[in-house]
Amino acid sequence: VWGSVVAGPPDPILGVTEKFKADKSPKKINLGVGAYRDGNGKPYVLPTVKKAEQKLFEAKMDKEYLPITGLGSFTKLAAELAYGKDSKPLVEDRLAISQSISGTGALRIAMAFLGKFHETSKTIYLPTPTWGNHIPIAKDSGLTVKHYKYFDKDTVGLDFEGMKADIKSAPDGSIVLLHACAHNPTGVDPTEAQWRELSDLVKEKKHFAFFDMAYQGFASGDILKDAYAVRYFVEQGHQILLCQSFAKNMGLYGERVGAVSFVCDSPEEKAKVDSQLKIIVRPMYSNPPVHGARLVSEILGNQELYNEWLVEVKGMADRIIDMRTKLYDTLVRLETPGEWKHIKSQIGMFSFTGLKPEQVEKLAEKASIYLTKDGRISMAGLNDGNVEYFAESVSKAVKG
Ligand code: PMP
Repeated sequence: VWGSVVAGPPDPILGVTEKFKADKSPKKINLGVGAYRDGNGKPYVLPTVKKAEQKLFEAKMDKEYLPITGLGSFTKLAAELAYGKDSKPLVEDRLAISQSISGTGALRIAMAFLGKFHETSKTIYLPTPTWGNHIPIAKDSGLTVKHYKYFDKDTVGLDFEGMKADIKSAPDGSIVLLHACAHNPTGVDPTEAQWRELSDLVKEKKHFAFFDMAYQGFASGDILKDAYAVRYFVEQGHQILLCQSFAKNMGLYGERVGAVSFVCDSPEEKAKVDSQLKIIVRPMYSNPPVHGARLVSEILGNQELYNEWLVEVKGMADRIIDMRTKLYDTLVRLETPGEWKHIKSQIGMFSFTGLKPEQVEKLAEKASIYLTKDGRISMAGLNDGNVEYFAESVSKAVKG
């Protein structure tokens, strides 16, 4: 039956993990995967998540279906976390929101909605580079993909002028996707002043601002700071769309908890958008999974657990920031050719090291260190036990 099917290419990120698994070296390191690891290199279940799980177990909850757009207590709390309890769209009851299958599912619903209903344009502008999955999600949702400049290879920083020029030259009313914080894969974010400029520019061009926020709190350790761009745009009157994920900031990767929300101009518009969200979701997966959403509700809805969670998120962010400093210091101490300041200034889970594909290959062959070909490393894969070895191996690979 499937004789005419041609084998497709393997996923570039998951392929790195395959190679890592096959390697027998005791020193091997996997820096490909985008999941947090603790100081011993192990997956981390947050203590607040364990507590919430215990509460749910004791409450003997049933396993009934959720409504199409998910658990109401969860979506309310998720919206408050992102936008702020006192934000106008919440106070004025004009935010349409649906639970989603984590951030990816949020993007999928959002883009399907845009493909069906965004009137002025079906073209979405993505940064170069962007999270790889943005492109097929957009295409599969019927959007045309174009790009705006983002990363400057020479400075290993933001190409802000290029970014603005491309957003400016896009036809009025285009869709512009922005990483709210901790840009993946580069770890390079606009400053707050630059976000303010971007808000003006997007408004002037009547573009539609689409925020992907997969790392709130995880980027800087401060949930307010990480929500700056989202909240500023909303304050400025942009009717944004927002995708949220609780994979990173609550370590709920496999539970698949997220949300997609649309700032509308009135409760009436909200009701209409809400009805169409249901029409999109129902034939895709009917309704979302319940367990993860209950966990998030328990944590965000309980002041004590919420305060503990803030400390845990900050702990994860701080460990990563500490690894950035240690990696930078060691590379400099080893007199590694090149400029490495970006390792410290980049934000979030990932760092774009600037390593070339042949150096990446050398690291795999000679040192059993695995990362994606573009030189991106997951900082979370580093710890006190392997950061020296990693820095030494990078230093050798760069020196040639
Ligand atoms: N957007 C970005 C920018 C991401 O980095 C990720 C996670 N790698 C996601 C969305 C979605 O992840 P998830 O579906 O696991 O929430």
